[in-house]
Amino acid sequence: MQQTQTDPYQDIRDAVRALCAQFPDEYHRKVDEARGYPEEFVEALTQAGWMAALIPEEYGGSGLGLAEASVIMEEINRSGGNSGACHGQMYNMNTLVRHGSEAQRQKYLPKIASGELRLQSMGVTEPTTGTDTTKIKTTAVKKGGKYVINGQKVWISRVQHSDLMILLARTTPLAEVKKKSEGLSIFLVDIKEAMKSGMTVRPILNMVNHETNELFFDNLEIPEENLIGEEGKGFKYILTGLNAERTLIAAECIGDGHWFIDRVSNYVRERVVFGRPIGQNQGVQFPIAEAHIEVEAAGLMRDKACALFDAGLPCGAEANMAKYLAAKASWEAANACIQFHGGFGFACEYDVERKFRETRLYQVAPISTNLILSYVAEHILDLPRSF
Ligand SMILES: Cc1cc2nc3c(=O)[nH]c(=O)nc-3n(C[C@H](O)[C@H](O)[C@H](O)COP(=O)(O)OP(=O)(O)OC[C@H]3O[C@@H](n4cnc5c(N)ncnc54)[C@H](O)[C@@H]3O)c2cc1C
Repeated sequence: MQQTQTDPYQDIRDAVRALCAQFPDEYHRKVDEARGYPEEFVEALTQAGWMAALIPEEYGGSGLGLAEASVIMEEINRSGGNSGACHGQMYNMNTLVRHGSEAQRQKYLPKIASGELRLQSMGVTEPTTGTDTTKIKTTAVKKGGKYVINGQKVWISRVQHSDLMILLARTTPLAEVKKKSEGLSIFLVDIKEAMKSGMTVRPILNMVNHETNELFFDNLEIPEENLIGEEGKGFKYILTGLNAERTLIAAECIGDGHWFIDRVSNYVRERVVFGRPIGQNQGVQFPIAEAHIEVEAAGLMRDKACALFDAGLPCGAEANMAKYLAAKASWEAANACIQFHGGFGFACEYDVERKFRETRLYQVAPISTNLILSYVAEHILDLPRSF
């Protein structure tokens, strides 16, 4: 097919692909089998500067936008890897860059850019409140020059492979604020220090090899200078990070979608049953073609969300819709891929079952499909609020 437009990010794609090619399927499969962390892979991405893509140049990063960051994440997943091991740094970065003080930026960004520090964790979700984020029960109470944190979080990822975490806590009780989104604040937590003085980390074994944890806070003290932005405005700030997160996850799903489509297309061209390649049957072709169309369409919505985000414009609708479309498309591609591999789709050595598990997560996290539909119904289509 003739390409009518050149891809403005082709150089980035080529460079990330070349790095990822040093980490073939066997590498990611072994990490998955061992339930390990792809330390060498993340280190290689860091040393090549990709993990500092969103850090402005004056702080040692490459000053790229979300569009470029999304291409990096897409290519990692398209190569057979899983950005879930390291995407936190990308989506957390905007929160710190956009809302952190100059002192915070100077203190942390150069060290994150060089790889000396990792900012891979974000603590939002709680066990008793789930998606109803403004009802979180973790509190931060100011005492002297410190905030004292008490409460609990669940599903907080990469804590054991990060130095810093952005934590959402309530600083003004819900009963005392006019709007439920007020009175929440975000803090930068030094994870290793916190683990010595009031934060307990309990890993959650889960279906994907995704390092994630329960956190318990018992009078954890955080210096007041670790508050990001103004006290009480944290929910607004965290939304910037969440829009970036949704757009980047969309990109990862697009990468997964391409991986599944490439793998299954290659397989059905070669696999001969009833005397002909199974890919000659339209019953086999159509689900693959459908998934390809949907992955490509999701890519366009991802591009739109990135363009708006990078221009500093509202992009909540586009970020959510990109995540919805991409997660659905990658899941359909995953189903076609496992289905047409027949029994071999279940054999670990084909990597299909691993990628199938990995991409399934994105129907639920970081936001479930239902909650995106609800957002679009209420905020875009002005339908009555359901909750
Ligand atoms: C592997 C993994 C890693 C994660 N990493 C992080 C992390 O690093 N940091 C973090 O803060 N969180 C993290 N999460 C949490 C994740 O964001 C939440 O699991 C997700 O937002 C859903 O919240 P919940 O699990 O509490 O589900 P609930 O809020 O209990 O919802 C359960 C289901 O009910 C449905 N539902 C709920 N309310 C409605 C409604 N009003 N209308 C229709 N349907 C509804 C949805 O389908 C939803 O999937 C992670 C989760 C997983 C599984």
